[in-house]
Amino acid sequence: MSTYTVINPSTAEPVTEVALATVEQTDALIERAQEAFPAWRDLAPGARATLLRRFAAVVDDHIDELAELEVRNAGHTWSNATWEAGNVRDVLNYYSAAPERLFGRQIPVAGGVNLTFHEPLGVVGVIVPWNFPMPIAGWGFAPALAAGNCVVLKPAELTPLTAIRIAELALEAGLPEGVFTVIPGKGSVVGERFVTHPLVRKICFTGSTEVGKQIMAGCADQVKRCTLELGGKSANVVFADADLAKAAATAPYAVFDNAGQDCCARSRILVERSAYDEFLGLLEPAVKGMKVLDPGDRSSEMGPLISARQRETVQGFLDEVDVAYTGSAPAGDGFWLPPTVVLAESPDERIWREEVFGPVVAVMPFDDEQDAIDKANDTEYGLSGSVFTRDLGRALRVSRGVAAGNLSVNSHASVRYWTPFGGYKQSGLGRELGPDAPQAFTEEKNVFISDE
Ligand code: NAD
Repeated sequence: MSTYTVINPSTAEPVTEVALATVEQTDALIERAQEAFPAWRDLAPGARATLLRRFAAVVDDHIDELAELEVRNAGHTWSNATWEAGNVRDVLNYYSAAPERLFGRQIPVAGGVNLTFHEPLGVVGVIVPWNFPMPIAGWGFAPALAAGNCVVLKPAELTPLTAIRIAELALEAGLPEGVFTVIPGKGSVVGERFVTHPLVRKICFTGSTEVGKQIMAGCADQVKRCTLELGGKSANVVFADADLAKAAATAPYAVFDNAGQDCCARSRILVERSAYDEFLGLLEPAVKGMKVLDPGDRSSEMGPLISARQRETVQGFLDEVDVAYTGSAPAGDGFWLPPTVVLAESPDERIWREEVFGPVVAVMPFDDEQDAIDKANDTEYGLSGSVFTRDLGRALRVSRGVAAGNLSVNSHASVRYWTPFGGYKQSGLGRELGPDAPQAFTEEKNVFISDE
């Protein structure tokens, strides 16, 4: 059996070995999930809700343990990792209300009664990237389970440890065997098998746009449902009338959080030309003041990149441009890079167009509202974005004008589990989270009953 050596990105030291599942093992676990499905589907809604609440409570009892695992496995800062484990708990609690509220409709028709039902799909395959292993897993498995599906979940090769532990906690909470199964393995083996296995009825994929396109093409063969949460190149648009001090103080955190390995990273800052110099003057101390420290240090605000390879990729972008200035980063064997600011010279530069997925931000001036919208939209992506202005009308016009799924005004909030999340254009397909997420894991059935 092949194994994968998990590396601590802060030190480049090995942490543990994880067995990688084969196609045969994947098949057996998918079949076991299918066997568990009828009983899970038919469980009384209140009983399923209770089990999900218990699952949330057991996760809550293990927040520190899960956070420690993530600090070691993914180099996430302690404050991020504890938030992430708490997010799994909160999302489970939120969707634990869904089984008892999975309403159908009674639709007026002639000659009888018409009812609709939301029926679970069966086995759902969730494929998770390495950048936010815990939350992204939860955004898939919690609503899927709540809607009565069984879930098989593949964590990223680089970051399997928290998902493996969460699956153990599910059993401890009393979820029946086979209802929620984590299968560590390669994308090309386990992930692809989710796509090709006929018993997996939906793929919930988060990852790169490139792999997302392959998944979508693969799903077409069986008309398999899929949702895709893909890459981003989001703009942070700062108008001259904004609270520039607030805009500059928060901009670094909107891109350098998680060392920039965030699909919602505001990696392009657009600043109205009349405020450009003042904004840059305020931005520099904010960037240099970021605490880039060992992620286990409770005050650390940014940790290392996930891998040597990721650092090389990011460095490749930096080698093509002049860096304006950087913050600091620890020396040592981990995969560290300091927060880095680049003044983009042309919208054709790779650093302006491509997702860097590292602690790099590019800044560019704009002339007026229309120019800001045009520049923000000059990308194949459309995931998130921010608008800083004191003019409410302008905030609305620009928010509506930017072709992206998640906009924030005078804030950088991206993902809140109460609200729908997803991308326009090549940033994705479908929505996750929010009150409607469980429906996306169901088929809507229509039943007509004649009154004759
Ligand atoms: P990736 O696409 O390389 O891998 C994502 C997952 O897919 C991993 O588990 C991987 O093993 C699996 N995979 C790879 N090849 C596969 C295949 N052929 N079939 C099935 N599964 C396969 O992405 P990554 O490098 O892990 O993550 C970074 C990317 O994820 C970035 O582009 C980022 O923007 C994106 N992302 C998007 C969101 C979002 O919500 N939109 C959130 C986080 C990350």
